[in-house]
Amino acid sequence: MRGAGDRIDTSTAHSARVYDYILGGKDHYLVDIEAGDAMCRHWPALPVHMLENRRFMHRAGRFLAQEQGVRQFLDIGTGLPTAPNLHEVVQEVAPESSVVYVDNDPIVLAHARALLQSSPEGATAYVDADMHDPDAILGSPQFRSLIELDEPVGLMIIGILHFILPPDDVRLVRRLLEPLPSGSFLALTIGTADFAPEEVGRVAEEYARQGMDMALRDLPTATSFFDGLELLDPGVTQVHKWRPGPEQNGIDDRAIAMYGAVARKP
Ligand code: SAH
Repeated sequence: MRGAGDRIDTSTAHSARVYDYILGGKDHYLVDIEAGDAMCRHWPALPVHMLENRRFMHRAGRFLAQEQGVRQFLDIGTGLPTAPNLHEVVQEVAPESSVVYVDNDPIVLAHARALLQSSPEGATAYVDADMHDPDAILGSPQFRSLIELDEPVGLMIIGILHFILPPDDVRLVRRLLEPLPSGSFLALTIGTADFAPEEVGRVAEEYARQGMDMALRDLPTATSFFDGLELLDPGVTQVHKWRPGPEQNGIDDRAIAMYGAVARKP
């Protein structure tokens, strides 16, 4: 059997490891550092942008746990463990919460242990799967044993959808929402070039050069992922403008190339 280690490719950059490098983590290789540095030369605001994406995840997770009473979460494109992880955010509000994490990167799998340190009252699980195969996620023993489909679920698709190219993107989000009961939520962020088109366009070209094709979306396209759902206030905004806290004070709009929103399944 092939372990995660056999699948880790240290000769090309990977999105999870570039993100880890820029966020100040330690689980990346020289290629990822070189790719990340090149991207920051194209667009020095990249670290602020990535941190604000991560902070959106924290606020959206806390909001769903605290204000909407959500106790089970499906997190697609989890990334390398970076404290606080989603289960730490939501279990701080409600220790009995469960989180099913999903990523397709073998290095995330190799570090998944840190994602599995659940509170004793709650539970976490990790699924090594690709978003392009939603049935493998929904049919996994981890999903089936942790997620009860008669209770609301928080579906988190944060910082991954720009790597899922049209025309598959909308269908895949729909498919993941399909089995979730009424009263479930979708929290989603997606890259955009609407605020610093030249610089962000160059970062996207750098990702593509490194073998990671990316599709950036404008506001109407980002909004269309929520068709049929009820967008909660303030709707689709740049991530730093979504229910901001004091940390978001003074952030320049041109530094944020990510739309985000939370919506309810009717
Ligand atoms: N959600 C986290 C991490 C975002 S980084 C956060 O917002 O902080 C994007 C993650 O998506 C990476 O870990 C990458 O491995 C994962 N990813 C990219 N394409 C994927 C796919 N097709 N299926 C599953 N995971 C994917």
